Amino acid sequence: MFFPEKYVVDIIKIVKQSIQMRETLVILADQTIPYAAAQASKNVISYNPQQFRQLCRVDPTGSTVVGILGHEIFHILFKQSRNSKKTHTLELLADAGAGWILCRLGMDTKNFENFIRINSYSNTPTHPDNMRRIDAIRKGFQECIKYYR
Ligand SMILES: [Zn+2]
Repeated sequence: MFFPEKYVVDIIKIVKQSIQMRETLVILADQTIPYAAAQASKNVISYNPQQFRQLCRVDPTGSTVVGILGHEIFHILFKQSRNSKKTHTLELLADAGAGWILCRLGMDTKNFENFIRINSYSNTPTHPDNMRRIDAIRKGFQECIKYYR
């Protein structure tokens, strides 16, 4: 485990401000994990620094990383645990939250949607299929437009 990079801390700070979240989060840079993850009960978000750097090369706007971190922050906001039976519903809620945050920060959802399309496991016990996830991201985005654009 290592300290997080400054740009990741900065993104999390901005996302937290956008949803007026006051809880303290612990951010861990962990090269051994394949994907970012949240430990909701401990307010911990872990990410793979190499993966994030690669994503920022592909998407220099940073919106993919914002979407991923937004998703994890919503898991913590709703204290969502992985072993819930409603795991698909919780994932879709976190995706909607990510869409909402992307809108709030003036970004679009295209790059984050692509990341989901390419990377997420389709229709497994832990994750709903990609089409439903992308639909949730767009719904969160549209919901935010009503209030803030
Ligand atoms: Zn999730």
